[in-house]
Amino acid sequence: MARVAFIGLGNMGGGMAANLAKKGHDVRAFDLSAEALDKAKKAGCLPAASAVEAIAGAEAIVTMLPAGRHVEAVYTDSVFDHAEPGAILIDCSTIDVDTARRVAEAAAARGLMAVDAPVSGGIGAANAGTLTFMVGGSVAAFERAEPFLADMGKAVIHAGAGGAGQAAKICNNMLLGAEMIATCEAFVLAGKLGLDLQKFYDIASVSSGQSWSMTSYCPVPGVGPETPADHDYQGGFAAPLMLKDLKLAMEAAASVGANTPMGARAAALYQAFVEGEGAGLDFSGIIKTL
Ligand code: NAD
Repeated sequence: MARVAFIGLGNMGGGMAANLAKKGHDVRAFDLSAEALDKAKKAGCLPAASAVEAIAGAEAIVTMLPAGRHVEAVYTDSVFDHAEPGAILIDCSTIDVDTARRVAEAAAARGLMAVDAPVSGGIGAANAGTLTFMVGGSVAAFERAEPFLADMGKAVIHAGAGGAGQAAKICNNMLLGAEMIATCEAFVLAGKLGLDLQKFYDIASVSSGQSWSMTSYCPVPGVGPETPADHDYQGGFAAPLMLKDLKLAMEAAASVGANTPMGARAAALYQAFVEGEGAGLDFSGIIKTL
């Protein structure tokens, strides 16, 4: 078992750090929030007074922060100058591809091994240790990071070079955002055409319209497995986080000249949803606006 620094103990990082501690790692945890630190302590981590203190002597340094600017600041102010030479740097935050690549290059220039390893799965999966990690970095860096990620998830996939994990994450979530809206539209139209929604689910979930949004995360209450729709769209994957990922996808698309009209429409619809009642709802609640 290893000494692991964990920085960013919020909704996701709190559960992830707890799972590393449960697996027997010596987890030195840091967050700007005293409440988050206290929770981590109760979950078996050792709270540190600063990121630098958490990093000292760590074999692996995991970050789970809100956005690219937080990751770059923590890496620049604390990680790069204080990481052990052989430590593996693992950023699990969802951030823009450009920042992820910049961080990877800066780490390589200092002789440090780094991966971007964003996750699929929400707070429930973070707590249960069933996240999917998509990892960008060299094969050697992936092999160093893999056992730590496996202790927090059910699948760890090497996506390619530095930044490839973030690229995979935003492409996946752009697909999910557009697919969820299309699934909602289909249910709304089915209802207006007089179809029983359970019957439509029974048919579409074994037909060519089947998707994860339909069979695993159905946006209609009382239809399909239990989802946030059954709890008035509370819990699950917050609409503002879907909007964040769609904006990252649109930025990335613009940076490489990719044409993503469905992604752009999904981003506009989620923007409007989040400016209204969607701010506090699961992303499948967008059905209320259709
Ligand atoms: P969060 O806001 O709950 O947690 C972020 C934590 O980082 C906070 O506790 C904050 O205090 C801490 N923090 C910020 N700056 C810091 C610094 N300089 N030093 C130390 N701590 C600092 O966010 P979250 O929901 O846990 O999400 C984290 C990341 O995971 C985001 O990039 C998000 O997009 C991604 N993500 C979230 C979900 C989800 O369902 N919540 C799902 C997949 C991916």
